[in-house]
Amino acid sequence: MLSSIITENTNLTVYKDYETKVPIELSIEIVKNFFSSINKEYASMFQNILQEENIYDNKRMYSVQFHKIPKCQNNNSIVRKDGLVIIDYEETLDDVYTVAHEFTHKFSQPKNQDSMLKQFLGETTSLTIEFLLQDYLLKNTLYDEDEIKVRKNNRFLAVKDDAAAIIFEHTLLKLYQQNNGCLNQDILLNYLDSMDKDSEIYKLFSKNGYDYLNDIVKNGALSFPKRQRYVIGTLLASDLHDKIENDKTNIKQLVSLITILGKTDLTMDRDLKSLTTLDLPLINNGKIEINDNTLTNLTACYKNEIANLSHTNGSNLPIRTSKL
Ligand SMILES: [Zn+2]
Repeated sequence: MLSSIITENTNLTVYKDYETKVPIELSIEIVKNFFSSINKEYASMFQNILQEENIYDNKRMYSVQFHKIPKCQNNNSIVRKDGLVIIDYEETLDDVYTVAHEFTHKFSQPKNQDSMLKQFLGETTSLTIEFLLQDYLLKNTLYDEDEIKVRKNNRFLAVKDDAAAIIFEHTLLKLYQQNNGCLNQDILLNYLDSMDKDSEIYKLFSKNGYDYLNDIVKNGALSFPKRQRYVIGTLLASDLHDKIENDKTNIKQLVSLITILGKTDLTMDRDLKSLTTLDLPLINNGKIEINDNTLTNLTACYKNEIANLSHTNGSNLPIRTSKL
């Protein structure tokens, strides 16, 4: 199962914070130059969208709205279905990632469709962009390396939480089925008791299970449809990032995926056909397919991303691992 790759291999524990103030104007400038390094067209699309006005909520307004939020407040940046881009920013380096992430979604949203495929692959492009942006910042700016890597550290911790919640919800569904549509506290506690107490997933369940249950009750729905995009996205982004690192021309795959997501139809079949032209590990012969090879490869790519987080650029020796 894809979620287990993440719960088993994310040896990070602490969310980190930013120390340096970065004005939003500077963040926008950095993202413009970064997009230009990926695809010249993206830099001009980026600037056009920033200046564009349209009708939203019956009012004429800029297509991008910037809202300053206090540090540590939830970031609710989003590209709305009607195309309005809302950027919550806090004047740190995190804003660079937020702007690049949301604009990647915006580039894929010319007609505002909400297809199955977007649900499935929607975060793959935006997360690959985040990984490439980290490389770009390390190479082209003088910000502290630890500061540049905060986003990825926090991103991976959030995805680990998503992955654990998905496994938890699947476990609930399994127990529900096994007990003929009945699920109570005893059944759940018995199950927890039967788990290997040293396993990572047991630790995650016992730490967060109560929160996951509360979320389900509060939202009246299981959260995995929303969360799985980030799990799939992170794994596919690790794979695509690896391919791009090995051969820069593979950026073309990312650009194609951004384009395909923007043109996506509501018919799954046609979408899948256009994706076969890309070398995506989960899509084979026009079908979504996960085999052992795929799992091994995705695990290796993901572990590589995690390992790089604790390494100094260019060195294979782990440093400051105590901090992680
Ligand atoms: Zn996103």
